[in-house]
Amino acid sequence: MAKITDVIDADTAELIAEELGHTVKRVAESDVEEGLFDTPDADAHLLPRPPVVTIMGHVDHGKTSLLDAIRHANVVSGEAGGITQHIGAYQVTAPSGQLVTFIDTPGHAAFTAMRARGAKVTDIVVLVVAADDGVMPQTIEAITHARAAGVPIIVAINKIDKADAKPERVRAELLQYEVQVESLGGETLEVEVSATQKLNLDKLLDAISLQAEVLDLKANPDRPAEGTVIEARLDRGRGPVATVLVQRGTLRTGDIIVGGSQWGRVRALIDDKGDTKDSAGPSAPVEVLGFNGSPEAGDRVAVVETEARAREITEYRERQKREKAAARGTGARSSLADMMSQLKAAGRKEFPLVIKGDVQGSVEAIVATLEKLNTDEVAARVLHAGVGGITESDVTLAEASHAVVIGFNVRAHKEARSLAEQAGIEIRYYNIIYNLVDDVKAAMSGLLPPTLREEMLGNAVILEVFNISKVGKVAGCRVTDGTVQRGANVRLIRDNVVVHEGKLSTLKRFKDEVKEVVAGQECGMAFESYQDMRVGDVIECYNVQEIKRSL
Ligand code: GDP
Repeated sequence: MAKITDVIDADTAELIAEELGHTVKRVAESDVEEGLFDTPDADAHLLPRPPVVTIMGHVDHGKTSLLDAIRHANVVSGEAGGITQHIGAYQVTAPSGQLVTFIDTPGHAAFTAMRARGAKVTDIVVLVVAADDGVMPQTIEAITHARAAGVPIIVAINKIDKADAKPERVRAELLQYEVQVESLGGETLEVEVSATQKLNLDKLLDAISLQAEVLDLKANPDRPAEGTVIEARLDRGRGPVATVLVQRGTLRTGDIIVGGSQWGRVRALIDDKGDTKDSAGPSAPVEVLGFNGSPEAGDRVAVVETEARAREITEYRERQKREKAAARGTGARSSLADMMSQLKAAGRKEFPLVIKGDVQGSVEAIVATLEKLNTDEVAARVLHAGVGGITESDVTLAEASHAVVIGFNVRAHKEARSLAEQAGIEIRYYNIIYNLVDDVKAAMSGLLPPTLREEMLGNAVILEVFNISKVGKVAGCRVTDGTVQRGANVRLIRDNVVVHEGKLSTLKRFKDEVKEVVAGQECGMAFESYQDMRVGDVIECYNVQEIKRSL
């Protein structure tokens, strides 16, 4: 019998409802999100949209300078005249008349962080390589990240104004990473630029529009908007402010929007020039005012029909967040200590690591030193070693392989930190190579089986064997040298051959059970589950010590 406030399971509920003549349609909680994103558009409704560009490259190769140069060059020539404000993305007009949207957070950390959340924002990557420095670790990383996302690259060879600029070298070096630029017969567009001298910026924009044409980017502007949060913050005067890149449809003031676990009604839309807008179409970045709370960068945004739907979705997401947080406490951890026991249990003797450092030199040194620790029994396996802060992709990699993440003179990005917390991945920071190596060495040593060492205690010779009822055979012996101890290991030796190995069950002097008998004394001994001892046999008594090994 159920009371009126009792909760019944879904199967019972279905039975009862059908009994009462109703038709039941089972739904999952996650169904509230159904149809929120990615409902397809008919081809006929698709119109060309501006490309969205992210600038990537090695530190100090001029990403920020290039973004600034493009923006300012455009403002000066543009009719608006106003200085652009920073909203996380901006739009400029290429000489061809095409609009181009630039994401204003250079670097692949942001790029990959967004991609990890399933937000594909970027259409084209501009890879900045300084002509005086050539291809560097982060250049390579940027190439990998762009490839992984399936986004075409345009190479901007920067700093060509410098006397020691060697653009040819950059082209040749890129070949090694399978980036073949046009002038070497490849398909990757390349432009020589100078961010500080504002050289060839137009050419770069032309290359971008050309690439965009090839990509044939289209979206339906005539539908409820969908987009992605590029940046979000809490503004003291204006409340939560989110920069949203509209990806399809048109966002209008008054629309009800959902982003992550936040929702709101669009109060105002502000573009990168600081102007208030009524609407924003595909590929347009706009600041959105009106969210109830700050969504997170990378959150997808969609317009919904009613406040009720918005509430339903955000409440569901909020609940999910809480459940995840609760699950986190019990989730599998990978700390150095736990890993040792895990690996031991699995019989595997590899020690997976993800290593990030501040400079290539130290990363190489760490990897080389760790490799020297490798033996036949244990090995440090470096899954990934690279230069730069610890990113979400590092943590994901570590999670997939149960590895520990090590940061040498670098720290984890905020997103990476929270991801690591969620996934229970340990991130260790070091600033001294020796400490790092020592810790890893200690952890690896824990994987080695201990060495067993025998410690000789003493010998006894059997003088007589008694058969005692209930007890069985007991050997009457004299200890010839050292001591004999109860509980120690013993071997029975006959004519110099070991006939039995085991433990003593009894050690008696006269009638008393004793712990130890010393040389010269007589005693009675019996073995655990062994009876066949004879007069003249020698009993050897020894201890076994487990000695922890270290590398
Ligand atoms: P980021 O770390 O990639 O964002 O690089 P920055 O934009 O901060 O530039 C690093 C340094 O390179 C700065 O000192 C810039 O002034 C300089 N720089 C950037 N572009 C050029 C260029 O085209 N020519 C010269 N000579 N210096 C440049």
